[in-house]
Amino acid sequence: MRKNLTIVNTSPDPLKPLKNQKALVTGANSGIGEACALALGAAGADVAVNYVSRPEEAERVVQSIKQSGSNAIAIQADVSREDQVQAMFAEMLKQFGTIDILVNNAGLQRDSPFQDMTLEQWNTVIAINLTGQFLCAREAVREFLRRGVVPDVSTAAGKIICMSSVHEVIPWGGHVNYAASKGGVMQLMKSMAQELAPKKIRVNSIAPGAIKTPINRSAWDTPEAEAALLKLIPAGRAGVPLDIARVAVWLASDASDYVTGTTLFVDGGMTLYPGFATGG
Ligand code: NAD
Repeated sequence: MRKNLTIVNTSPDPLKPLKNQKALVTGANSGIGEACALALGAAGADVAVNYVSRPEEAERVVQSIKQSGSNAIAIQADVSREDQVQAMFAEMLKQFGTIDILVNNAGLQRDSPFQDMTLEQWNTVIAINLTGQFLCAREAVREFLRRGVVPDVSTAAGKIICMSSVHEVIPWGGHVNYAASKGGVMQLMKSMAQELAPKKIRVNSIAPGAIKTPINRSAWDTPEAEAALLKLIPAGRAGVPLDIARVAVWLASDASDYVTGTTLFVDGGMTLYPGFATGG
């Protein structure tokens, strides 16, 4: 016999599972962040579109979200700068009143053979990919704790989705700053999830494999490069930003109410050691 079964709040509108929620997506004027912002908007959330450069691209994303029926605003901030992150959150709270969902997406690469890697290349990647996620998560958590759970909106006080990478587990020569930043994101995410679960705050990561965006254009923009890449992907295709955005909507919704502290690998099997399918 079932006892103590709590029915999880499901949105009355299954097509808009994020209705009445407010989301912030960092680095949302390109690639995966843009796709997440559009998908969260289509799922009913009002979206703050963070960007650091190219305001016209952020405005294009804002207009697309508005066409889908949700509200959207663009906010400029460098996620590695504490003052700018705090100003961004102040602006979002002023315009939207609160925040329910943070997608910590902004990131970049500064690749180099190890012996030639400059301290600036190291510091830039750690500052944006890791410290930037800390700074944004801390501001979001402060607001989640202040506001608490609003049952009509969500079963959680807040949701944070960290954009990690398969390189949180796959070592990556020539990119040690990037792999170190994503390994750091893994423990940042898990430690936050452990600490904040009792406060009804859920923290998870998405670890994309090879998704076709500007960050990795050289890995897929010639037939030779794409053929080499596909050898690493059992599913036989590179990913597209929508593959990630769909998962972000699920992780942001109450459908994943019991999921916290998890990295969801969205990688076509890249982390399955495909070389061992025929070797080993
Ligand atoms: P992208 O270059 O298209 O997007 C990166 C976004 O981050 C851009 O909007 C950029 O302006 C923004 N950004 C960079 N520095 C910033 C800063 N200081 N402040 C605010 N925004 C800043 O690349 P993408 O592939 O869409 O990358 C998005 C995330 O996904 C990154 O965290 C990346 O590490 C991760 N990722 C991508 C792939 C992939 O295959 N594309 C794989 C694994 C992980």
